[in-house]
Amino acid sequence: MPWPPNDDDEIFGLIDREVERQNTTLQLIASENFTSPAVLRATGSVLTNKYSEGYPSKRYYGGNEVIDQIEEIARERAKELFRAPHANVQPHAGANANMAVYLALLKPGDKVLGLRLDQGGHLTHGSPVNASGKLYDFVSYGVTPSDERIDLDQVRDLAREHRPKIIVTGATAYPRVIDPAPFRQVADEVGALFMFDAAHIAGLVAGGVHPNPMDHGADIMTLTTHKTLRGPRAGAILCTSELAETIDKSVFPGLQGGPLDHVIAAKAISFAEAMTQEFKDYAAQIVRNAAALAEALAEHGLRLVSGGTDNHLMLVDLRSFDPELSGKKARLALDRSGISLNENTVPDDPRPPYITSGLRIGTPAVTTQGMGEPEMATIAGLIHRVLVGRADDAELSSVRDEVVSLCSKFTPYD
Ligand SMILES: *Cc1c(COP(=O)(O)O)cnc(C)c1O
Repeated sequence: MPWPPNDDDEIFGLIDREVERQNTTLQLIASENFTSPAVLRATGSVLTNKYSEGYPSKRYYGGNEVIDQIEEIARERAKELFRAPHANVQPHAGANANMAVYLALLKPGDKVLGLRLDQGGHLTHGSPVNASGKLYDFVSYGVTPSDERIDLDQVRDLAREHRPKIIVTGATAYPRVIDPAPFRQVADEVGALFMFDAAHIAGLVAGGVHPNPMDHGADIMTLTTHKTLRGPRAGAILCTSELAETIDKSVFPGLQGGPLDHVIAAKAISFAEAMTQEFKDYAAQIVRNAAALAEALAEHGLRLVSGGTDNHLMLVDLRSFDPELSGKKARLALDRSGISLNENTVPDDPRPPYITSGLRIGTPAVTTQGMGEPEMATIAGLIHRVLVGRADDAELSSVRDEVVSLCSKFTPYD
């Protein structure tokens, strides 16, 4: 039977437009990146056709001799990269990875300790609108108001008071290193499991610029593969040998059906890419770029939450710069100038989460493009011009022209 024509202009036209958008605007969303051509190639491969419920050599379907090898390679590479006794590479996303861990280790109503959403945590760390918050009894710690860093005294006090089954750390909008060691200590003291959600920083861990939770006693580490790690859009779970079987059963058949084998192949490729010296250099440059961007923004009078950054992102608190300017207003103006980022709550934000008083800005994607510290200073200047001139159409379009010209020197995809 002949194939239908390979010419859906409506959709392929839009994909072409998205390539154009990614090539000609600045991607400063902290959770985004540009994957390699090899990762894109595996993701678009015939592996998408296969059903392979189960695990290598324990499948419920035939014809998996190739898939078994791919998943086995992916698991071995993940274990090597993060020095983990066990890896499950099947989670479709970071949220699934976290849910699979909770399903494996908790009963509904069990106590868990996690970082508050409005202080940098993730929806899957107990938000009431997320399944994690509906099924489990999350107690939240936050940051210390004076330095806006995780309040470890509060973590210890809450752990002693509530005796959680799991202590979760890891963040989606927190600009500082999270040291796993004190969490391990508190978990030991109260007999809890210690789970580190490294969704954002997996690439920084792999590149050796942030501590590896698996080296510091994490029982479980979850990650996404598409943020700083620069692989396909997906998740993974690492854990101790003791938890391996429970975690595997929880991912399948507990939570998911058939794995996305094309994405698992792409994960395997990205794990290998992350083992190279080039990737270590990349991870270090992400952090240097974030520091340079933060410093330049501060020189323009913008306040940074916690005073700066030591990872791939920073949070700008707009309140002192311009009390009228919400995060949402700023993001909309920046979008018009081709600068893509997201509004974000700042600690104890007086505005609601869909308006916010802050911006989250990340350097993983622009670093992949090859930009360095000089470009970060340029970008800070462009952001400042938009924030000041947000009501001036001519100024916004003049910034837009400069963004196009900057991006033309660092085109990610031909
Ligand atoms: C992004 C993120 C997730 C969820 O990842 P998805 O792939 O979007 O489901 C989970 N935890 C943290 C801390 C994150 O930043």
